[in-house]
Amino acid sequence: MTFRENVSLAGHSNYKIGGPARYFCEPNNTEEVIEVVKWARSKRLPIFILGGGTNILFSEKGFAGLVLKPNLRGLLRAGTTLQSGAGVSMAELLDFAAGNDLEGLEWAGGLPGTLGGAIRGNAGCFGGEIKDRVTEVTSLDISGRTSRVVTRENPACRFEYRNSIFKRRDGKEIILGAKFALRPGDKEAIRKAVEEKIRYRRERHPMDYPNIGSMFKNVPLNKVPVARRTELSHVVKTDPFPVVPTAYLIAQTELRGVSCGGAMISPKHPNFIVNVLNAEPAHVRALVALAKKEVKKKFSVALEEEVIIF
Ligand SMILES: Cc1cc2nc3c(=O)[nH]c(=O)nc-3n(C[C@H](O)[C@H](O)[C@H](O)COP(=O)(O)OP(=O)(O)OC[C@H]3O[C@@H](n4cnc5c(N)ncnc54)[C@H](O)[C@@H]3O)c2cc1C
Repeated sequence: MTFRENVSLAGHSNYKIGGPARYFCEPNNTEEVIEVVKWARSKRLPIFILGGGTNILFSEKGFAGLVLKPNLRGLLRAGTTLQSGAGVSMAELLDFAAGNDLEGLEWAGGLPGTLGGAIRGNAGCFGGEIKDRVTEVTSLDISGRTSRVVTRENPACRFEYRNSIFKRRDGKEIILGAKFALRPGDKEAIRKAVEEKIRYRRERHPMDYPNIGSMFKNVPLNKVPVARRTELSHVVKTDPFPVVPTAYLIAQTELRGVSCGGAMISPKHPNFIVNVLNAEPAHVRALVALAKKEVKKKFSVALEEEVIIF
């Protein structure tokens, strides 16, 4: 197994931003993951688990420990059950499902990142969530002195809106893989449904620049002060409960297109902060703080980050 040193995390982040990882390793199977964890523990190094890096802003300091990127890539089909390793990208997973005439994951068309990241955050869009089709998740519990493989059925994963037991136990479990119960479908119809979602995203998201998706969660209506709800009622959507889209709130503060260094609040979708030109982590953090301040001032609403900021 190769442990690389001082690896730039910018190269492993969709944002193309971030300092170095002291150590970086990509184990290829469960045994290797266990070995890597043991190695880090013996050196008393903190571990950060990395998927596709599509939801993380790394700091300029990087990570002073071991970044462990599980390269678990198995994909299997048995009847209508699909089994996937955590390191498989959502795009590969959807392609495999379509190629096997299995439907049920089309909502995830264009969802970036790996299966591991999607399970941890119960990723969702277009009315679907990863939890809808998952029957079982296997993980490695690394919280004790020795690592332990755990298999949980769906209810035990305690999936909620953008949450799961794996997120609640952040850093204590490495997701290894999952099984899905899908339905027989038609290859062409499945691919078409996936393509539609990808096209929808391309039209609305600022994909010309590196980004990490929506910076803030949409605001649950019950967190909007009662006095402001009527004026915002025309933008409320179900996601899957009533929310006010954060993109709308930021747009009303007239921060669209505002830049700090190489980072910019996207004029196309103001809940995205894009890396226009060699942005530094501090530039993004400054825009995050500015958006929070202005939305608070205008709507008395506290924005909450959706992304992970180091
Ligand atoms: C353009 C764009 C659009 C997006 N649209 C959506 C959307 O519609 N819906 C949505 O929900 N999200 C969306 N996202 C956010 C992001 O893609 C998802 O959250 C994705 O599931 C993250 O997966 P990842 O592999 O990139 O995780 P990473 O960004 O690498 O990591 C995210 C978190 O997951 C943890 N993690 C990753 N792999 C594992 C593992 N194997 N075991 C344990 N923990 C792990 C990491 O430690 C980290 O805490 C979007 C992002 C972008 C850039």
